[in-house]
Amino acid sequence: MYKLLLIRYGELGLKGKNKIKFIEKLAHNMRQMLKKIEGVKVRHTWGRLWVELADASQLDECMAIVRKIFGIYSISPVVECERTLDAMKEAAWQELQHALPEGGSFKVRTKRADKSFPMDSPEISREIGAYILTHMPENKYIPDMHNPQRYVDVEIRTEGVFVYSQVIPGAKGLPVGCSGKGMLMLSGGIDSPVAGYMAMKRGVVFEAVHFESFPFTGEQAKQKVIDLAKVLAQYKGSGIKVHMVHFTDIQKAIRMNCPEEYGITLIRRMMFRIVEKLALGRQAQVIYTGECVGQVASQTLDSMFVINNVVKIPVLRPCVGMDKEEITEIAQRIGTYEISIRPFEDCCTIFLPEYPVIHPSLRAAEEYEKALDIEALIQDCLQQSSAITVYPE
Ligand code: ATP
Ligand code: MG
Repeated sequence: MYKLLLIRYGELGLKGKNKIKFIEKLAHNMRQMLKKIEGVKVRHTWGRLWVELADASQLDECMAIVRKIFGIYSISPVVECERTLDAMKEAAWQELQHALPEGGSFKVRTKRADKSFPMDSPEISREIGAYILTHMPENKYIPDMHNPQRYVDVEIRTEGVFVYSQVIPGAKGLPVGCSGKGMLMLSGGIDSPVAGYMAMKRGVVFEAVHFESFPFTGEQAKQKVIDLAKVLAQYKGSGIKVHMVHFTDIQKAIRMNCPEEYGITLIRRMMFRIVEKLALGRQAQVIYTGECVGQVASQTLDSMFVINNVVKIPVLRPCVGMDKEEITEIAQRIGTYEISIRPFEDCCTIFLPEYPVIHPSLRAAEEYEKALDIEALIQDCLQQSSAITVYPE
């Protein structure tokens, strides 16, 4: 029945140039993400965004994609009808039956942007309401002017007359690509893909960095990260670059030269140094991680203080205020959870000390690191790293 989607964008606070940039980016992302559906067009006209389907059978597929696009506040499947009162009555009646097949209360609302139409809005609403009442089988539909279950909206514009009643929530946030760039530390766990999703929700694009400890972690651990990036790429609509950093030598050096209980602290300090280097080379302004306060030994505030101390670049942690359950819920909804729980070793779990220090001190960490040639280790490690671009499926 529907061949047209009305797209409302959020962030109403945006003004002037920012608003134009926002809308252009959103339209671009929509075209990018919908291009795989034959004949679908995105139009930006009349101060609104529209998705035109080539055929009504494409509705479900289109909706599934559109609902993932950040920057969209809500979506209404719309019917376009002729500019006559009779056509509006019939379209509104069909719409109501479609939206509330079981029956319920309704109210017709009319917006007359095209003042050349000879009746005013309340009059049109009344006429349409009366038409619906004459068709109403066994009081199935009840008019309710104050608290209706459904509004049937009729918009009369110079470009056409549009009827709709569904308002489906969009992904909200900002269009991906309008807020700069970050580096996402992507492990194979549950949290960091969620952090990546949250980064994109606020319009940030990212390149991912994964630390692997080949041969202690295998092909399957690497595949897991690639599969996670593929899922995340669906929300971006284009490829995501994943840097695979060969980290084994650094882990070995720390293991051999530093006290075991500081292993995780020192490993994470090295990770941050490397990601900051990559970020600066790739014009990224921030690092994103899936860290949360209090989950594990490396996520106490003392640990974060000592680990974060090695970098100047801001480190953003979108999961910081969430419980594991809340993070898991998002992971399930966005499609990363099933991949994250595949049972493959992560580089951190392999070298996990039996009793990691929970409240490390900065002075001790710096002292222990004197046993390492940090610059040389980082250079070696970066030389053995590679990058691949992963595309949405
Ligand atoms: P996650 O579920 O994201 O793995 P976690 O709760 O297991 O997080 P940690 O293992 O301490 O916590 O990791 C904290 C954060 O450090 C991760 O969210 C991720 O951003 C980063 N990180 C950890 N291991 C790696 C890795 N092998 N490669 C890249 N980043 C990593
Ligand atoms: Mg982890």
